[in-house]
Amino acid sequence: MFQSIRYKFISITIISILITSSLVFLSSINEHKSLYSHSVKENLDAMSSNIADNLLRIMSEQHDMFAITTELLGLDRYEHIKFVNVFDENWQLIQSYVHPNYLKLKNYKPTLNSIAVNQLPFSVTEIDEGLAALKPIGEASYPIGYLLIVQDLKKPLAQSKSNLFNSTIPFVIVVVILAIAFSFWVYQHLLKPLLQLSKFTRKVEKTTDYKLQYKVSGKDEVSQLGNDINNLLQTINGQIKTNRKHTAKLLEQKHAMERLANYDILTGLPNRIFFLEQLRLALKETQKNQQELAILFFDIDNFKGVNDTLGHETGDKLLKSVADKIKSHLRAEDIIARIGGDEFLIMLPNLDDLNRAIDTAKRIINLMHDPIKINNWDVQTGVSIGVVSAQQANYNIDVAITNADIAMYTAKEQGKGTYTVFNPELLADNQRKIQIANLINQAINENEFELYYQLKINKSGKAKGLEALIRWPNSALGFISPGEFIPIAEQAGKIKAITRWVLTQVFKNLESLKQLVDEDVLVSLNISSHDLQDPCFIDIIKEKVVKYNCDLKHIQFEITESSYLDHFSNANEFFHDIKAMQGSIALDDFGTGYSSLSYLTQIEIDTLKIDRMFVNQLDNSSKNAVVLQTILDLGKRLDLTICCEGIETPEQAHYLLENNADDLQGFYFAKPVPIERLASEVANAEKLFSELTVVKK
Ligand code: C2E
Ligand code: MG
Ligand code: MG
Repeated sequence: MFQSIRYKFISITIISILITSSLVFLSSINEHKSLYSHSVKENLDAMSSNIADNLLRIMSEQHDMFAITTELLGLDRYEHIKFVNVFDENWQLIQSYVHPNYLKLKNYKPTLNSIAVNQLPFSVTEIDEGLAALKPIGEASYPIGYLLIVQDLKKPLAQSKSNLFNSTIPFVIVVVILAIAFSFWVYQHLLKPLLQLSKFTRKVEKTTDYKLQYKVSGKDEVSQLGNDINNLLQTINGQIKTNRKHTAKLLEQKHAMERLANYDILTGLPNRIFFLEQLRLALKETQKNQQELAILFFDIDNFKGVNDTLGHETGDKLLKSVADKIKSHLRAEDIIARIGGDEFLIMLPNLDDLNRAIDTAKRIINLMHDPIKINNWDVQTGVSIGVVSAQQANYNIDVAITNADIAMYTAKEQGKGTYTVFNPELLADNQRKIQIANLINQAINENEFELYYQLKINKSGKAKGLEALIRWPNSALGFISPGEFIPIAEQAGKIKAITRWVLTQVFKNLESLKQLVDEDVLVSLNISSHDLQDPCFIDIIKEKVVKYNCDLKHIQFEITESSYLDHFSNANEFFHDIKAMQGSIALDDFGTGYSSLSYLTQIEIDTLKIDRMFVNQLDNSSKNAVVLQTILDLGKRLDLTICCEGIETPEQAHYLLENNADDLQGFYFAKPVPIERLASEVANAEKLFSELTVVKK
């Protein structure tokens, strides 16, 4: 309670009032004492003068003792008179009076002990016994006697004090109480705004509402304090608003960072990090519930081609369209994520079995059959999907992702727009791939590769062309076909070393080939899309041309249609440089890639190599024959040399010759052989051709 200023003030006030009133009371008692003594003295003086006058009358006639005694007995009514002595002119006591109050006292002597009577002045003197009034009876210079009246002072004074005390104390108490009550009221009144202010600040503290303002009335210090608090609150509120803005901005930035960290900006889909995080959690849950979860891994077929031919903007839109299209066909709990480039992962949780995932994969493939319209282009695309069971991967995320990878690449190998469900045999296959990839360097260093040549015969029956085809008889794995190891070398980043090896061999063999086949021989060699991307490749060719003193007019570079379209701009630059050096370009496996042929008008190729698929299926359907005829016509119109691959029968050769094929290549005429066996192959091929012409004729 005493911590409160109010109570401190009130306590101080009460103490001050009490001290002041006590002091005032004491001083008034003192004042009363002196006033009372004075008045008693004066009364005594007057009374003693009167009695002296009366005694003068009595004693001037005769010493009538009776009359004196009667006079003195009149003093009985003055209760404080102790005694009275009447002396003659010689200070002989002639009459004495003792007040009845003192008569009662035993051994009371009506005499002065402290002083001799005749030493007292003729007035009222304060002595030990009280007040002594000494008066001459008669003229002071010729008195006929003396009158001494002794009166008690202490007792009347005490009595008077007590009377005063008794009469004033209630009044004092009332005044003090009133003063205290008043001070209470005053403090209450004065401190009320302060208390209100304190209540207000507590409210602010409790509600943390810094918009609140204290209602200020008046101009005193408390109002000033109220104003100061209002200003402080306004400042705090302003600061809070600024802080809120900053916090909101920071939150926004945090969300943006989270989005950047977890989502792909282009498609708005979760990214790899986010997907793997979700997959990890889902796998745990699925394992706990002994359920099935499937992962689908796919990429967009021919995406690079779209990017290069139709531009990155179209490529980006294609990614977004594919993502949106597929996402709209998934369940709410499924997650689709873009994990980079044109690769996507889909997580299908809570499955009863894998069939549901296979159905989803089929549905996605079907969805992609329809072309997607982007910037007025009807972009024909597709997806190859790897399907993986979490149960089979033992709910291990790394195993599941590796399996998805393997399944997807297997799907791609099997032909675009297909799906493959992972099975352990694919893993063995994958292990073989890893083994092959690891053996390539060794094969180059230990010269394990061999170069075979397959003849091409022209429409005049002359074997003037050759295709260089690599062969790999490996001591550990036996004969590995280029169809198997070339894609692995491409994936493992080892194809460039193989191309260099082939290029060197061809350049080294060129002179022999001219002699073995024809002075104008044209040797084709296959290059990969990775070579096209290599900015040093053209320099390597130039360097080897100089080193082996070759004329590039004898060299033709075969590039598959898909490699070309995947690296459109690089390829065109390369073609341009090769042509500048008199070299030529052939588009290999034509017809297996893009259905859009519009690019044919934009590129600088010399030869179209029609894929053997068309030749193979010639006998099976007349429709194929029409397609083949159309391609041949188109090639002619574009002034291109047409080479047909995979001719295995004289009928096929006949048909193609009749339809204006320029060059023929196939097992019917010659199989790929080492350079040593070429001479006999040339003779045999030309012989077979002449037989053809004979039959034809
Ligand atoms: P490609 O460039 O289309 O080569 C033609 C393929 O068809 C060769 O297969 C050849 O042996 C085969 N072939 C030719 N005529 C016939 C026929 O009448 N019937 C059948 N069934 N096949 C025929 P190969 O040598 O197995 O090569 C396969 C593919 O490997 C090549 O296809 C080419 O893309 C790639 N390749 C081969 N050697 C090299 C190379 O040195 N470098 C690169 N980058 N790729 C190569
Ligand atoms: Mg080829
Ligand atoms: Mg080919």
